[in-house]
Amino acid sequence: MKKSTLILAIFLTGFIMAQEKELAWNLYYSYENFKEQSLTNRRFKHSDIVPLIDHLKNKNIFKVEKVGNSVEGRDIYLISMGNGKKKVFLWSQMHGDEPTATAALFDIFNFFSNESDFVDVKKFLLSNLSIYFIPMVNPDGAEEFQRRNIFEIDLNRDIIRQQAPEAKILKGVFDSLKTNFGFNLHDQGRNYAAGNSFKPASISFLAPSPDYEKSLTAPRENAMKLIGNMADILNEFIPGHIGKYSDDYEPRAFGDNFTKWGTSVVLLETGGWRGDREKQFLRKINFVAILAAFNSIASGSFENQEVDVYESIPKNEELMMDVIFRNLKEIRDDKEFIVDIGINFEEINTNSAKKFYLKAAIEDIGDLSVFSGYEDIDLSGFTIEPGKTKPEHFHSYDEIKEINPAQLYSEGYLNVILQDDNLKAEYANLPFNIFLNQARIKEGKIKTEEAANFVIRKNNEVKFVIVNGFLIDIDDIDAWSGNSIVYSNK
Ligand SMILES: [Zn+2]
Repeated sequence: MKKSTLILAIFLTGFIMAQEKELAWNLYYSYENFKEQSLTNRRFKHSDIVPLIDHLKNKNIFKVEKVGNSVEGRDIYLISMGNGKKKVFLWSQMHGDEPTATAALFDIFNFFSNESDFVDVKKFLLSNLSIYFIPMVNPDGAEEFQRRNIFEIDLNRDIIRQQAPEAKILKGVFDSLKTNFGFNLHDQGRNYAAGNSFKPASISFLAPSPDYEKSLTAPRENAMKLIGNMADILNEFIPGHIGKYSDDYEPRAFGDNFTKWGTSVVLLETGGWRGDREKQFLRKINFVAILAAFNSIASGSFENQEVDVYESIPKNEELMMDVIFRNLKEIRDDKEFIVDIGINFEEINTNSAKKFYLKAAIEDIGDLSVFSGYEDIDLSGFTIEPGKTKPEHFHSYDEIKEINPAQLYSEGYLNVILQDDNLKAEYANLPFNIFLNQARIKEGKIKTEEAANFVIRKNNEVKFVIVNGFLIDIDDIDAWSGNSIVYSNK
């Protein structure tokens, strides 16, 4: 390349990138116009999306096909649009409890259904691309909000054996389409940080390896360039919150095999974001990222991207915790020492279909300076001790509702005993825990994997308590909105 052509190329790349970023910002600002309002949290079900898919059948731009059934008989759909030469295939929620991108796909369908906005952009995309979607590959898993299908098979480890009908459907559709690009849409654990940045890896990417040698084949290189382009754009909105998944070859996974068979696969994993457990902000980021990628594929602009951009994305590191309480003074055997306490919440599904509660456990104790908490609270100057159980027995839920928590805390108690055969709850919205009937009463411990119930004092006076991992200021108990645990022998 001559020097003048090179300068022109760099200039053009910069120009295209500026245009792409402008489009992304416009999408970001107009998102609310397209957001599918009926999907409001992560635990939506197949029955919530079927009416939305039915609605698409009435729109000319979409073709809707049933491509098979899940084990429990739920219909799986392929939705397609556009008549361009470049083929793009997106599939979401192979893992039932990873729904963020599914919601974003319905936002994207609304974007394309709308007839008044972004008309030229859509015309450009649909004339250059043929786009195929399978939203919610694992509807039975979504029903239970669990990773695996109803036979306990992880669909993303079933491409070789093809035991699960859902995996067979996905492979069948892929074989029939042989698309240029594939988007494998997942959610990842909240515990991933983007390198050692102390920031959650809110979106992580991977261009999966086609073999154990992690060969840089042409399809994989294109995926890397496209990811570099997406990362550049996302850095406008979530700077420093972008990570890269491990590229170890997984012979049983879809992305790795699709890459081997010649498709440029982008794995997109939605992680955590502070103050957004339901990931509604990251759903919007998915919307922007996916549409920006369509634009980049349609224009071919990603081809000018350097692979280095992909290479320089920080790796996912398990350095995030839900809560870290720092610099607490602990006294054992009359010796004082300073500890940080890291806590993670497990989400436990309840019978009420769209509900869950949180159960805290101590993840780590000591110097946690390399970790970051979604909530990160400095408690220097405070002393920590385990919460105790009030020995007196109560006889009805109504009776314990009348307990004055401030009084309870002042005596160092965070748990009460309830004799009540009728209470079936596993959690409570009271600011203390309940030991039900003959539940084995465990004295609190400051120990990893144990429950997180502590009394926090300053100058011997109780200032805060931590109940099931939730911090409660004793001067503002009503401000608390967490849940406690009902322990039973079940
Ligand atoms: Zn997944």
